[in-house]
Amino acid sequence: MADIFKNHFTRAIYRELAPLILNVRPSTQAVSNQLLVLRGCESAMDRLVRDRRYFARPARSLFDEIRIHFSIASQLHVYMVVKRHVELALALLARLPEEELGPTGAPRQCQAMTRKGQPCQRPPLPRNDYCPSHQHLVENFDELDALEDFEGIGLAA
Ligand SMILES: [Zn+2]
Repeated sequence: MADIFKNHFTRAIYRELAPLILNVRPSTQAVSNQLLVLRGCESAMDRLVRDRRYFARPARSLFDEIRIHFSIASQLHVYMVVKRHVELALALLARLPEEELGPTGAPRQCQAMTRKGQPCQRPPLPRNDYCPSHQHLVENFDELDALEDFEGIGLAA
């Protein structure tokens, strides 16, 4: 299940981005830009499946990794493609029962700190990373506030 999901999204992103990938590469770089973009998509999707609760801003992180392989003129388009697919992947993942994705490593724990500065040990609610006592810390995951992102990638005026 996890592999089908990962491969599907890796290919979906790569297919849209492939025609835009630059062919010039540093002479020190042994592999093609295409391969680096593909690997970047693959590892982002892998992490999304296995470790999404600890993967902050996945769309941004993938974009930052692969953006050097695209022209300045393609940056916004590349970002939008990445963001669209990552959001779709996250939406689908959220609807899949966790068991279907296989073991995700450590058991889930609330992400908050206690007043003594220790990590909270309580299990988080299924819908986010915080236990019932720490729900007030939940961030707005509509996150990618457009303006902030556009500033981040240097496209804001
Ligand atoms: Zn807690």
